Amino acid sequence: MSNAEVRDVIVIGSGPAGYTAALYTARASLEPLVFGGAVFVGGSLTTTTEVENFPGFPEGIDGPDLMQNMRAQAERFGAEIVEDDIVAVDLTSDVKTVTDTVGTVHRARTVIVATGSGYRKLGLPNEEALSGRGVSWCATCDGFFFRDRDIVVVGGGDTAMEEATFLTRFARSVTIVHRRSTLRASQVMQNRAFSDDKISFLFDSEIAELHEKNGMLSGLSVRDTVTGRTREVAATGLFVAIGHDPRTELFKGQLELDGEGYLKVEAPSTRTNIPGVFGAGDVVDHTYRQAITAAGSGCAAALDAERYLAALA
Ligand code: FAD
Repeated sequence: MSNAEVRDVIVIGSGPAGYTAALYTARASLEPLVFGGAVFVGGSLTTTTEVENFPGFPEGIDGPDLMQNMRAQAERFGAEIVEDDIVAVDLTSDVKTVTDTVGTVHRARTVIVATGSGYRKLGLPNEEALSGRGVSWCATCDGFFFRDRDIVVVGGGDTAMEEATFLTRFARSVTIVHRRSTLRASQVMQNRAFSDDKISFLFDSEIAELHEKNGMLSGLSVRDTVTGRTREVAATGLFVAIGHDPRTELFKGQLELDGEGYLKVEAPSTRTNIPGVFGAGDVVDHTYRQAITAAGSGCAAALDAERYLAALA
C-alpha cells in the first residue's frame, strides 16, 4: 500500500532529537510526520525516573513526563505522531520513501533520522527493573544521586574509566569490574583511574547477580571468570559502561556510517551523504549523549531541512 501524498518532512524517532525536530518543522508550517516507534515512543528518557539536568525544570522532572511535554508541544503546532516503527527506507531519490510495519509506504522530500542508540546491557534478569533504582548507564546523568555510596562500574574501555573517575566526586568508593585481565582503555585514562585512591579493580570478573531490596539495588554477586567462584560486593550503585549500539541497521547501504555504526554527518551541520536526509541526536553522537544535546541537534536538523526545502522551491 502506498500513500501518494508527498510530505515535506518525515522524522524517524521520538526522543528529544525527534520531538525537537518535529516542533521546529511544525512551527515552520512543514506539517511533519513523525514515526515514534512501536514500543519505545518518547525514546530513552521514558526508561528513567528523575531528570535533573534538562534546563527549565529547577526541581527536576520525571523522564516520561518530560517526553510527554515535548510530544504535546510538537503536536500543538501540527506535528503528526504515529506510534509505529519504520521497517524499510529508500532514501536515494529526491522523493524518499519509508515503510511502516503494516507495509504502507510514506513519501517525503526530507527525512530526519533520530533513531538514537541503545546502551549495551549485561543481560541480567532484573537489570531493566533496577534501571533508575541503583542501576545506571550514564554517570553524567545520575552520578549526583550516588553521594557517599559504594559503586561498581562495569567495563574496561575509556568510557568506563571516565565514568569511574567522574563518579569519585560523589561516591565513597568505586570498584571497576572488568572481565579480562587487562584494560582496553587508553593509557592516559588507565593512569588516571589507577592513581585515584577511591578506585579499585576486580579483573577477570563479571557481574553474576543483582540483589534487590525494596525495589532498589542492594548488592551484587561478582563471578571470577577464571575460577568460577562468586563473591559478594556490598555496592548500592552499578554503572554499566560496556558500549552503545546506534540504531542504524535500517540505513546500511544507503547512509554513510562510521566504523562503530554511527550515522556520519557533515558537522557542524546535520547533513548526511544523501541530500535531503539529516541525522540528529545519539545516532550521530559518540561523545555527548545527553537529552539537551540531542534536542539541540534535532533543532539543527529541522533548520537544515527547512533550508534544503527552501532551496528546492
Ligand atoms: P532516543 O531518546 O534514544 O530516541 C530514539 C527514538 O527512535 C525512540 O523514540 C525510538 O522509538 C525511535 N526509533 C528507533 N528506531 C526506530 C524505527 N525503526 N522506527 C521508528 N522509530 C524508531 N540524558 C540526560 O541529559 N539526562 C539524564 O538524566 C539522562 N538519563 C538517562 C537515563 C537512562 C536510563 C538512559 C537510557 C538515558 C539517559 N539519558 C539522559 C540520555 C538521553 O536519554 C539520551 O541522550 C537521549 O534520549 C537521546 O535522544 P535521541 O532523541 O537521540 O534518542
